[in-house]
Amino acid sequence: MPPGRPRRLPADARPPFSWVGGALCLDFVNTVTWLAPGVLENERFRTSADVRDWAQAAGLPFTPHAPEHDFSSDAQAVDSTRELRADLHRVLTHVARGTTPVMREVDQLNEWIRLAVAHTRLEGSDSGKSWTWAPDSERTEAHPNRFPLALVVHSAVELLRSPQISVLRLCANERCGWLFLDRSRKQNRRWCEMRECGARAKARRYRTRRRSTVSEPAAE
Ligand SMILES: [Zn+2]
Repeated sequence: MPPGRPRRLPADARPPFSWVGGALCLDFVNTVTWLAPGVLENERFRTSADVRDWAQAAGLPFTPHAPEHDFSSDAQAVDSTRELRADLHRVLTHVARGTTPVMREVDQLNEWIRLAVAHTRLEGSDSGKSWTWAPDSERTEAHPNRFPLALVVHSAVELLRSPQISVLRLCANERCGWLFLDRSRKQNRRWCEMRECGARAKARRYRTRRRSTVSEPAAE
């Protein structure tokens, strides 16, 4: 699926998913535009089917249409997904800005981690050289409140504990709120997507320059 968000979409159209974050947890928080605290735009998770589509597109190892993993059977799925997203965004934004999350925000993250661990198990490859988190099928069948987004939480923990966290950045567009890992050679990436936020800033600078040139009195 191509990255990027079209500027104008019909009201009932869902913007496409974007994969510019550089980590699963970042692509997850980048499923809405964080215009300002509590003000969101371009919501991708409007229905449980949207969440399921994202999980499938992100390659999460859940069978998307199997009844036991059917988000649509869970009326709380969308609310819970958005809540997880907001909690992750709060903590990660602090980290990107170099500020300290408040205790309550860290506590909320720890609650999600407990839930994620309860629904997954660590599995090794045959050689034992590579280990991954996998859905704990026994537990997920036993518990009605399944948690298919557990791997998103694990991704956040791995990022927070890795050296990569030093290159976590917040998009320079203050009305965007997207997060990404700056893996550019010069480590000077400013925008989530150049063709979206970067292009808008460029156009704004151009308009400002043009206005100041026009309003300057002509030299005698
Ligand atoms: Zn942006």
